[in-house]
Amino acid sequence: MDKTTDPKLKSFIDVHPESDFPIQNIPFGVFRPSKKDAPRVCTAIGDYVLDLSVLQKEGFFNQEVFKDKPVFNSASLNAFMALGKEARVTARQVISRLLSADVSDLRDNSALRKACLYTMNEVILDLPVEIGDYTDFYSSREHATNVGTMFRGKDNALQPNWLHLPVGYHGRSSSVVVSGTDLHRPKGQTKADDADAPSFTPCRLMDFELEMGFFLGTGNPLGKRITMQGADEHIWGLALVNDWSARDIQKWEYVPLGPFGAKNFGTSISPWIITPEALEPFRTKGPEQKDPAPLPYLQSKENRDTYDIELEVAIKGENMDEPFTVCRSNFKYLYWSMKQQLVHHSVTGCNMRTGDLLASGTISGPTPDSYGSMLELSWRGSNPIKFTNGEERKFLKDGDEVIMRGWSQGDGYRIGFGECTGKVLPALD
Ligand code: MN
Repeated sequence: MDKTTDPKLKSFIDVHPESDFPIQNIPFGVFRPSKKDAPRVCTAIGDYVLDLSVLQKEGFFNQEVFKDKPVFNSASLNAFMALGKEARVTARQVISRLLSADVSDLRDNSALRKACLYTMNEVILDLPVEIGDYTDFYSSREHATNVGTMFRGKDNALQPNWLHLPVGYHGRSSSVVVSGTDLHRPKGQTKADDADAPSFTPCRLMDFELEMGFFLGTGNPLGKRITMQGADEHIWGLALVNDWSARDIQKWEYVPLGPFGAKNFGTSISPWIITPEALEPFRTKGPEQKDPAPLPYLQSKENRDTYDIELEVAIKGENMDEPFTVCRSNFKYLYWSMKQQLVHHSVTGCNMRTGDLLASGTISGPTPDSYGSMLELSWRGSNPIKFTNGEERKFLKDGDEVIMRGWSQGDGYRIGFGECTGKVLPALD
């Protein structure tokens, strides 16, 4: 068993049982103490961030895998990620030990603590990864069925390919932003069903998509595919993803090649990358894939390739004192696993690279309160969501902040993802 995930472990730093960042988590991110400072790699513990570049300079990362590689003195996690699983596991062991209540190195060294510990809400959390390519899948059977039912009717809800392969499209990485970045409502072409011609307007049907993404540590050479047996080696960590969507723009543009402008104006991710090691105690079975069974290259022996991660979306309008929770879902509902997404992505020989982001697609669950988009929650606007302050929403209004959270609940602790937030600003001219 991996000792860094022992539920009994305690840090010398006080961590609330509902904190996202107990000593078992050890997420990775990038922060700046203030605007004028250079970014560096960090982890989180309770309400603090821990500067790993300082600890590396002080010689705590003297293991072979980190030798002559100052990967934490960096504006992104990429150099660290490129070292693969061994470096990640080693870093977890070093950090777990240093934060432990029983180890004096950091606990009793006030000068060192002062040099490397910062209150989280006083620092700036940056986009943690220099994202290479961004691919978005469509891997929730419930979401695909809901959307298909709305647009094509119940009998043709799933396209004929859907149960045979993880459907996806190549997205846009330049507009992936870190939590807390506000986005302007996009403009584009839309066409009402009864209109003769399209018009150029601000998006009227602005939506969020509750998704989870994973990042590639090491990639594969062009031509050499990643297999189900080897896929775990490449998955470096997970983050929350809000794949903002302009539904009216999407509806007019998406045939025949899929979404374009409706998705390329912004995608938000949480600032912390949660590792497979931290999530391992929450590994669980995915949905059955028997009817039909996937082709052999997508088959998993035990089908225990997912995690029990609770997910929530809340909306806070400009006139609201408190966010209103609109969706409670779970990562384990996804039909296609991350491994299957990665294997299918590279089956052609497509080379994946360090820092690539693969997102899951909207994660909807089986019940109406677990739908992961406004499109489904309001059933295309026909069933408005009622907030406790009397307001209603069919889609997002200007000023609405969307707040996503995710965590795996352990016994007395949780492995959390932090928040993925963003506000809708009015369209620009
Ligand atoms: Mn999406």
